[in-house]
Parts: sequence; structure tokens; C-alpha cells
Amino acid sequence: MGMDTTNSSDAALWAATLVRVRNELVELSTADRDWLTAQVSRIGALQAELDRLFRDAGGPAICAACLGGCCGGARHHVTLTNLLGYLLAGEEPPAPDFSLICPQLGVQGCRLPAERRPFNCIIFLCDRIDGQLTGEQRIAFDGIEAELRNAYHAVAERCRGASLRGLLIAAARLGDRPLLAR
Ligand code: SF4
Repeated sequence: MGMDTTNSSDAALWAATLVRVRNELVELSTADRDWLTAQVSRIGALQAELDRLFRDAGGPAICAACLGGCCGGARHHVTLTNLLGYLLAGEEPPAPDFSLICPQLGVQGCRLPAERRPFNCIIFLCDRIDGQLTGEQRIAFDGIEAELRNAYHAVAERCRGASLRGLLIAAARLGDRPLLAR
């Protein structure tokens, strides 16, 4: 019962936050919007590079045999930056299901494309996949991860709702204050 209450309050907070972000985006200056679009696009490109290394290491087959072993308890990984990937492109994010171990975990794995997956998820490699990376690939992965972390921090410095702790935690903490402002 307590779990149901948490699920429905998370779902209500998600719906309300989506409306707030859409409204704030309408009010945003063109310069701020362009800056955010450039950051989100750079983040997407870096994440696609990490995903390429994950695929080269045989990640998809290993994940398909496990399906979500690492996704449990990830209720709050999605950040404002990930949501902006959808909204700035005029697209709808997949509706989260808060009754699942992660609200974005579908029957075939994560429903978010690699470019729009949360930072904590895209940088995580389980021991089995990590063990498949060559030394060179590991160095490349670490370098891209550092660049990616900086890009997320740059967005979080400009938009207080974009904390890496996750969008719902930021929204609950900020109350009525704007998510997209400093
Ligand atoms: S967002 Fe996707 S990758 Fe991250 S924990 Fe949820 S299902 Fe897994």
C-alpha cells in the first residue's frame, strides 16, 4: 500500500514536472534555447560513442541474457537534461511506469535510446562487459566519460533542475522555483 502511494506520487510529480518544463521552455530566450540544444546534442554524441564501445565489447548479448540486473532501484536516474533531449526535439519521452524496478525498463531492456539515457546508466559497465574491453578501449571510455560528466555539469550549473541526482529529486527540492534557471 505504501509502495502504491509512492508510485502514484512519483507519477503525479513526473506529470506536473513535464508541464512545468514545457512551460519554461516556451519562455526561454532563443540564446538559452540554442545553448541547451547544443549541450544536449553534444551529450547525445558522447553517449553514442560510449554505446559503440559497449557494443564492441559484446554488451547487447550479455545484457539480453541478464535483462536489467543493473537497473534495479534506479527510480531517479533520469535527469532534466535527458528529458530536454526529447522536448527540445519536439518529441514525447516514454511514459515512466513507477511500479517497475526502474520506470524506464521495458520488456526488452531500457526504453531510452543510448543518446538520451541517464548519465549514471550509460557510464556503467558490469564486470562481465568491462572484462571484454581492451586496455585501449578502457582508456577511450574513461576519456569520453570525463567529457560527458563535464557536459552534464555545465547544464546543471545553468539550470538548477538538472542535478545529476535526478529530475524528480530536483523538482521536489525546488518546489515552485524554475527548473531551467540558474
Ligand atoms: S534508465 Fe534505462 S538503463 Fe537506466 S536504470 Fe532505467 S532501464 Fe536501466
